Amino acid sequence: MNYTELNNGVKIPNLGIGTYLIKSDDAERSVKQALEMGYRLVDTAHLYFNEEAVGRAIKASGVKREEIFVSTKLWPCDYKNENAVEEALQRLGLDYIDLLFLHQPTGDYIAGYKLLEKAYKEGKIKSIGVSNFDGKQIEEILEKFETVPQVNQVECHPYFTQEELRKVMEPKNIKIMSWFPLGQGDANLINESVFTELAKKYNKSNAQIILKWHIQMGFLVIPGSKNVDHIRDNFNLFDFELTDEDMAKIETVNKHKKYAELGKMGNMYNLIYFYHKLILKYNFNFLVKKYGT
Ligand code: NAD
Repeated sequence: MNYTELNNGVKIPNLGIGTYLIKSDDAERSVKQALEMGYRLVDTAHLYFNEEAVGRAIKASGVKREEIFVSTKLWPCDYKNENAVEEALQRLGLDYIDLLFLHQPTGDYIAGYKLLEKAYKEGKIKSIGVSNFDGKQIEEILEKFETVPQVNQVECHPYFTQEELRKVMEPKNIKIMSWFPLGQGDANLINESVFTELAKKYNKSNAQIILKWHIQMGFLVIPGSKNVDHIRDNFNLFDFELTDEDMAKIETVNKHKKYAELGKMGNMYNLIYFYHKLILKYNFNFLVKKYGT
């Protein structure tokens, strides 16, 4: 496992498991399997309604707490709740969180950042993250707060590499954590001929080539899966290196285009919260077209 040092000196594994749209029982099993295989980073969120399951998996894995890096996220409905960090700790069953994100730059995210900064100073969280923040929102945070965030978790993959945002983040050494690193399983992305060619060259799968590309781009990466074979494959990335020429070839598939347009979320966040709750807590599966595997 490779680690990256964040701008506050904290070390984070470059690769972890994501748990978006993975229901509690699947999340508990998958995270436990991942930890047993050697994963040391787990990403969850209040919105995913599986933080309790992630906490149970951590305990059941038998891996020491201090060896595991847990990231989770406050949803905008938490930003004005002064107990929000305590409540996240309780859901996870942990006494500190390694990296706590503000999930969206909507609602009162300035109040949310104040909560994070306070929890950081109290040692309840070891690093601060923002998610889906654009360059202007990052600059606003840098202007208003003394504590620089360590990570911005944003959509990032070979079709959309966040060039503009990175120009604002790199001077402060704020790291990208890529969501939809595999385009949420998009076959068009995964089956691009350049990945098939490189997969043959290194005797790897196309998905492994994409995940390795993230790591060599300096992005933290958290592919989501509840399929044990994918979970195993996604961790098996540390016995080969892409060359500069390979990386340049991959750049040619860049479409400068995202899958998701979250900027228009505005004050819909309460609705989105209840939508996810119905799907994930009450098994209203018919509300989603696609499920992670
Ligand atoms: P992803 O790009 O990681 O794709 C996951 C899908 O890819 C799986 O459902 C599966 O169908 C497929 N897949 C996984 N491994 C594979 C393999 N080896 N071969 C072939 N197919 C494979 O998308 P994601 O899970 O939505 O994103 C990753 C993580 O990022 C999430 O689980 C979550 O933790 C986080 N996330 C954060 C935000 C945010 O707003 N902050 C948004 C979305 C996701």
